[in-house]
Amino acid sequence: MNKLQYLDFFKRKAKRLLKDYKKYLSNDCIYLEPSILLSTMIEKFGDKATLMNAQHIVAQSAGFKKWEELIQAGFERLEKAKMDVEFDDDIVHIETENGFIGGSKDLFPGIFDVANVDTNFQPEIKPLKSFSDEEQEKILSKQPFERNTEEIVECLHCGHRFSFEEVNVERTSNFDYIVCKYYPGNCNGSLIDLIPANKLDEYEEARKTNKNP
Ligand SMILES: [Zn+2]
Repeated sequence: MNKLQYLDFFKRKAKRLLKDYKKYLSNDCIYLEPSILLSTMIEKFGDKATLMNAQHIVAQSAGFKKWEELIQAGFERLEKAKMDVEFDDDIVHIETENGFIGGSKDLFPGIFDVANVDTNFQPEIKPLKSFSDEEQEKILSKQPFERNTEEIVECLHCGHRFSFEEVNVERTSNFDYIVCKYYPGNCNGSLIDLIPANKLDEYEEARKTNKNP
């Protein structure tokens, strides 16, 4: 990339940030958590931010005091600045029963798809094993984490252990969510709450060993 292309990147980023910000404030989408970039903008400017403010947030994320400094920066500094801004634009923190999990927006496609789901739409919920092998594979291939249907998992939400193939699938208009076997009604656990039991055992084991060496 040359300097002009870098500057173009930052300009587009600021425009995009302002667009996301307006969308977020208008409540016509349900982001669970905004990215670091977006939440900084909301914290600093409340509901009154302009394009200039968005440029300011982008410049600060890039390590500059203000937008003018970014514009005048040398070519060599801009690559790192671009990575910093991309990081802040990408990372979201999602609250779970076990505290906050930080991750890339791309890793939680389901969560961001919630933004487009019609609230009157009643999703179909049925066990994973009731789908054909081919469909099961298709559903699993779209999930952010790779899972093995034969492994035993523990739901951190309700504490039950079961085979992964017993999970339910909540089919919405644009994404198939993996949810706990006891969802809905008795548990709200989702894919990130379903931890392979052997990993938990190993973890418990390691914890005990650390405590009593
Ligand atoms: Zn559960």
